[in-house]
Amino acid sequence: MDPILDGLNHAQREAVTSSGSILQVLAPPGSGKTKTLTARVAYLLSHHKYQPQDVICCTFTIKASREMRERLAKLIGEKLESRLILGTFHSICRRYLVKYGYLIGLRKGFGIADSDDTRAIIRRSIKRLKSSIEVKAAQGRISRHKAHGLSPDALADRAKAEELELVDIYRDYESALAASNLLDYDDLLLRCGDLLRDHPECVSNVQAVLVDEFQDTNIIQYELMNLFAAKNRRITIVGDPDQSIYGFRSAEIQNLKRMQRRYSNTTVVLLEDNYRSAASILNAAQEVIEQDTSRPAKALQATHSFGTLPVLRRLPNPNAEAQWMVLEIKRCAAMTGGLLRMSDFAVLLRSASLSTQIETAFGRAVKILLNYMRVVSHTGHSDALMNIVNVPPRRIGDETIKQLTSGAEKAKIPLWNFIKDVIQGRRSTEKKLQKTAEQGLCTLVNLIEASRQKLQECEDASAPRVLIEFIAERLSFQEYLIRTYPLDEDSRWANVRELMHQASEVAAFEEEEVDKEMDLPEIEGVQQQQAHSGEEALTRFLANVALATEITTREESKEGDQPSEKVTISTIHAAKGLEWPVVFVPAVYNGSIPHSRAEVVEEERRLLYVAMTRAQALLYLSIPIRQPRLGEGEDGATTLTPFLPPKLTKTRFRPTGPSLHEKVVYAIADILRRPRPSLDDMYKGLEFLPSTLDDRWTPEGEEDHSKFDSTSTSHEASGEPNPKRRRS
Ligand code: ATP
Ligand code: MG
Repeated sequence: MDPILDGLNHAQREAVTSSGSILQVLAPPGSGKTKTLTARVAYLLSHHKYQPQDVICCTFTIKASREMRERLAKLIGEKLESRLILGTFHSICRRYLVKYGYLIGLRKGFGIADSDDTRAIIRRSIKRLKSSIEVKAAQGRISRHKAHGLSPDALADRAKAEELELVDIYRDYESALAASNLLDYDDLLLRCGDLLRDHPECVSNVQAVLVDEFQDTNIIQYELMNLFAAKNRRITIVGDPDQSIYGFRSAEIQNLKRMQRRYSNTTVVLLEDNYRSAASILNAAQEVIEQDTSRPAKALQATHSFGTLPVLRRLPNPNAEAQWMVLEIKRCAAMTGGLLRMSDFAVLLRSASLSTQIETAFGRAVKILLNYMRVVSHTGHSDALMNIVNVPPRRIGDETIKQLTSGAEKAKIPLWNFIKDVIQGRRSTEKKLQKTAEQGLCTLVNLIEASRQKLQECEDASAPRVLIEFIAERLSFQEYLIRTYPLDEDSRWANVRELMHQASEVAAFEEEEVDKEMDLPEIEGVQQQQAHSGEEALTRFLANVALATEITTREESKEGDQPSEKVTISTIHAAKGLEWPVVFVPAVYNGSIPHSRAEVVEEERRLLYVAMTRAQALLYLSIPIRQPRLGEGEDGATTLTPFLPPKLTKTRFRPTGPSLHEKVVYAIADILRRPRPSLDDMYKGLEFLPSTLDDRWTPEGEEDHSKFDSTSTSHEASGEPNPKRRRS
């Protein structure tokens, strides 16, 4: 038996081995689409003898591409895997632009503007133009126009009067990016599209293109896919229209139909068996999605047993909800006797503001260092520069900063060049700067130049790490943290160490792979742009950081020491395609899901569907009865999301004896295909449970559970194999 086909069902094999050159695999969550796509990559290499560097494979998140690489390394070996062009659309496009961007006039060494940068630039434009448009709204609208390929000029031609204000901001924004030699996320895609249209020879080697999560591609990504595949027209996509959740970012479900129209030879394969979730979880998720009557009915069978019914918990307020989750996670871990580790739990949130996430994920301390590195890598990065001009403090006040930025703007040069000109006496600010401020600027410029020198000396992939350490030392960064954050300097410094660690991981990986990760193949007659390898390592590191925050950062809690021992906290959007044994979906109230600002209700329902179908064995939904921030109704009383079917909306707490406890745990072990824990371990765990686990608080109109044993399972369970039975 071909090991590539091992462990696949009939329909999956059919898809993997299909001789169709245009293939769509359409199937519900957990049916093995990604697994099938991965196997098809391996199959194409081994049976069609394609070279890995001639295969492009696009995933939706960086995490997903990492997972796919791991799976492929096992199937085809690391040597071949490392040569595949595999990554997110953004990272693949960046790669092409680094190598071939010069063909379309892109300047060397461009930087990437992340969403913080774009917001800062737009905020300035709005201020300058005295517009009343809200920053975030402008950011979203500009990005949408870009995603539809509308330039400021094109928009101006068709804009209505009230849009003209946005056109000006848009134009201003574009010239600010150009002035700093920055590309935003949309530009990475757009410019790569330009490149491939003008110079199709750059992808003339490509034999096959594969795309995961196709339902969430936007029109530009769809066009890129076609451009990648222009020569040989071999495309495999996998997707699920029910999981389309990026409409707000211009993803287009119609791309599926569009593709079928464009390629009349499209073969469609359907998968129907779910291998991920307990049947009870799948049933509940099905009930949610089936409320959308406009969607075609679809077959979906569970392969696992019924398992445990999803729990819906009501808590007094968001705080109590968070505490309950922590306790419930501890309880689950304890009562399953070592079966579940912290990394098996995920908390999936409807929304989390991007910037606060980045703040917490990397920590503010880390952001400061990253900004230094961005300036060293790319002195045109005026926003990064502005953020560090006076951090740590070097007596450069707000007024000085204002003078400098407006001076640079007037001179139409990057802030860096302006500052240098000022301290060298070649230019001056409108008001003369204080001596102390000038000294501060000198210190800064010296530091950046010394760092650039250091970078030049570093000829290999260790550059990011060398640079962070150099900068941290020259800034006396740890002392700065102690001075500024005496209370939690420890954890901030730990974040910095983590960043250093990440940087050296990149280094180790790249040295081993001799910089092969997603390197583009040489193509006859087309010259690639070569960069200094230390600089290249640094830009790649920074691009990874920037791209990682693109689809909202995944934040991890502080539990446990090893990285693998942490509870995952993520937005639902970023959890796409992933799975966890236990999933919590808090805040299932109106205004959160569906979100109060959401435009398309169906998309919000699909979002809940995506969240629920991430769960393998246990699913918890919860709602705070009051959410003061909501200000809805009296004292912020919440109402349950209308998406949940009535059958699920009762908290189920049942007195459970030892035999039921065993059944629950064994069912979980079976679903996860893990060995069953010993009874001893299971009951030992229970002894350590705190006695406060039961929140005695009971909402109005619900049964009083407090009389039941709080330390026993809150789940109903049945070990019966996959009955099509539902509890009511
Ligand atoms: P999503 O729509 O959420 O992205 P998916 O369709 O891509 O889901 P996968 O992530 O590929 O599904 O697979 C879900 C789980 O089912 C994985 O743990 C995978 O290993 C497992 N799986 C898939 N196919 C099989 C199979 N034939 N036998 C056993 N396990 C399978
Ligand atoms: Mg998938």
